[in-house]
Order: sequence, then C-alpha cells, then structure tokens
Amino acid sequence: MTSRVPLRSLSPDELASFLAHQQQAYADLQARGLKLDLTRGKPAPDQLDLSAALLDLPTTTLDRSGADVRNYGGLEGLPELREIFAELLGVEAAQVLCGGNSSLTMMHQVLTFLLLWGGPGSERAWKDEPVIKFVCPVPGYDRHFSMLADLGIEMLTVPMNADGPDVDAVAALVADDPAVKGMWVVPTYANPTGSVVSPEVARALMAMPTAAPDFRIFWDNAYALHHLTDDEVASADALGLAAAAGNPDRPVLFASTSKITWAGAGVAVMASSEATKAWFLKHLSMASIGPDKVNHLRHVELFGDAEGVRAHMRRHRELIAPKFAAVDAALTAGLEGLEIAEWTRPTGGYFVNLDVLDDTASRVVALAKEAGIALTPAGASFPHGQDPRDRNIRLAPTFPPLDQVEAAMAGVATCVALAAAEHLTA
Ligand code: PLP
Repeated sequence: MTSRVPLRSLSPDELASFLAHQQQAYADLQARGLKLDLTRGKPAPDQLDLSAALLDLPTTTLDRSGADVRNYGGLEGLPELREIFAELLGVEAAQVLCGGNSSLTMMHQVLTFLLLWGGPGSERAWKDEPVIKFVCPVPGYDRHFSMLADLGIEMLTVPMNADGPDVDAVAALVADDPAVKGMWVVPTYANPTGSVVSPEVARALMAMPTAAPDFRIFWDNAYALHHLTDDEVASADALGLAAAAGNPDRPVLFASTSKITWAGAGVAVMASSEATKAWFLKHLSMASIGPDKVNHLRHVELFGDAEGVRAHMRRHRELIAPKFAAVDAALTAGLEGLEIAEWTRPTGGYFVNLDVLDDTASRVVALAKEAGIALTPAGASFPHGQDPRDRNIRLAPTFPPLDQVEAAMAGVATCVALAAAEHLTA
C-alpha cells in the first residue's frame, strides 16, 4: 500500500503512482490463478455436521399426544416444535405454524393468497387492485425483490439504516397511497447490512397510519438466532406492538431452521395474529393435508427445548465468527484510511455489506471475476438488480473454508483499490 491518506487528497502524480501500484498488485493476484467463491450465503459443511444426529432421529413415531407423526394431519405443525419456536421468537404458541423446509415458500404463499383472495381487513383480492406496491428497504434480500417482480408488484425503495428501515420515508409512502399494500423487513441481522430493527422503529412501523386498510409487513426473521457475539439481541416484538397499536394483522413473522440445521431439510415457521393464522390455514388446507411431522419431531428431539437451539447456535458462531473477522481484517489491512470503501462489522447474520466508491461496484466485481474470485453481482441487493449508485456489494463468507475467505478478501481489497484508482484518474 503506497498511501494511507484519503485517495481523493492525493496529487495527480501520487494518484498515478497509487494506480500503478494497484495494477501491479492486481497482476500478482491474477497470476495466482485463484478459484474462490464468496457468493453463497449458506452454511459450510462443518456447520451442517453440527446437526448430523438428525439422520438417526426421531427415535419414536409418536408425538406427545400419541399421534403417529408418519400419518396425515396436523396442518399447523407439531405442537411441541411450535412451542419451542414461540419461545425463541417471543410469541404465543397459538400464533405459530410450522411447515416445510422453506420460509420463502411460506412468504410466497401468504403473498399469493393475498393476491388471490385478499386477507383479514382487505376490501377485495389484491389482484383486483389496479396496482400493488411494496416498500423495500435497500440494500435488502434479492429473493424478496425477485418474488415481488415475478408477481407484478411494484417496488418503492427506502434506505435501510443501522436501526432498521428509515421510518419517516416509509410513513410518507404508506400514508396516502392505498396501492402501497406491504413491505419487507428483515428485523434482526438484516441481509445484507446486519442492521437490527430497534424497538422504537418497530413500534413506529406497527403503529403508522396506512392508506391501505390491509397493509402487511412481511417480518422475515431469518437470522433471529444467528448471533456472532455475546450480545444476543432479542428481536423487537412485532406482533405485540402491532396488537397494542390496533393493527394486529399487520405483521406476519417468518423464520426457519435453514441456517440452524439443514437448509434442504429443515423447518420453516410463521407467526401471526390468530385471524391471519386461521385465514392462512383455510387456504393452505386446499393445498396440503399436513406437513412433514417426522421432520418436526426429529428437530424437537435434536434440540429438546429453546435453550437447546440457542446452544446449537453458539456452536455455529464458533465456526463462522472467525470468517467474519477475516473479512474485516482483510478490508482493514487493504483499505482503511483511503476513504474509498465502507463495510459492516455485523454482530449476527450471514453477510457483510461493502459499499465502494460510487460507480465502481460493477468494476470491482468484474475485476474480482477476472482474478478468479466470484462475488455476488453488483446491485443484487436492489430491486431489479439496479443499484442507482453502483456501489453496493454483498459478501457471504460462511461457506468457504477460513483460508479461502482470507485469500479471497485480500484479493477483493486489491480490486476495490484498483477500481477506485482507475475511477479517480479517468
Ligand atoms: N430470508 C432471508 C432474509 C434470507 O437471507 C434467506 C436466505 O438467504 C431466506 C429468507 C431463505 O429462507 P428459507 O431457507 O427458510 O426459505
């Protein structure tokens, strides 16, 4: 590194020399012939091994009421598993449903049911509205946005701050336009920013006046239990706050064991007002006679209780926290002081959010690719993949082994510095 002063403060000669230095560093990087991948926000094999006992469970075929879990029935899921998740999510067991392996599927079902029939409080099916819009905090989870796009729902973006969505911006969008029917929120350790919605922001979101009588908040708590530090934050009580504000049906909570046990064979969870739950089950009963209760029971046996889940998550933390530390160490070593990048140091979740110099994110991703480092496409965390400032990159360090995270991130720092130098000398 030739300089630790802000890159913009360099003279043209100094900048040219910085550029030459980064070009050499990049040539060295390319010569290493790396083949690394930081795109996959999924558990590594050693994390999956933490749940290896699942393959030998359950040890019985009967649930605690004596019902045979191998048979049909029990649409809302095994009561003993619903109780564990109720405690973990801070809700009542009566509000919880346990389903198949994907919470994304449950979100899709809620959305399509709303489109087809409307929900509690709806004046008509959403498909019969001239236009439907959702508020989308950005950067956010790409699959939320692609689901909305696929269903023809327009997206209005608001900034995602450290304490959650920008409430004033949200309130302004929902106040007068009845076409604004909902929003996504990832309340705890958001994808990709790691933001945690504060109780104040949650209260405001649950209480704000909305022009649509059936405004819904898809409260996707995918990372509720995925702490990376001793500070195991509790998620804001969305259902309680909404009920207290007279909007009990507004939030619908989602979570899953995708990054607790096995993403391909876990359990998804939904929690809502009892009216929403009854509405959902009514429509779900046309599609299913019951979920995979054998899987529910083996999860109950694996964990025992809510504390068993928390203990299990601490073992995940031991495996992945060093990878997050490696991301920060590499970015700090390569970029600190240059004022060309900002990145998050998340206290939970699965991602690091990297903001580079405006108009250089696509170039960084392309440079990294040419050097054998796969990064998520620039803009992926925005609706339609369009980041208006072309500065945002989502890093996913959990899947590769630690040494690969270190190598890849050192390379990413080189690409960020080179792209910035190119941009400032252009
Ligand atoms: N929600 C968020 C915010 C995610 O980041 C992910 C996966 O990356 C999911 C949901 C997917 O959840 P599931 O595996 O339960 O479908």
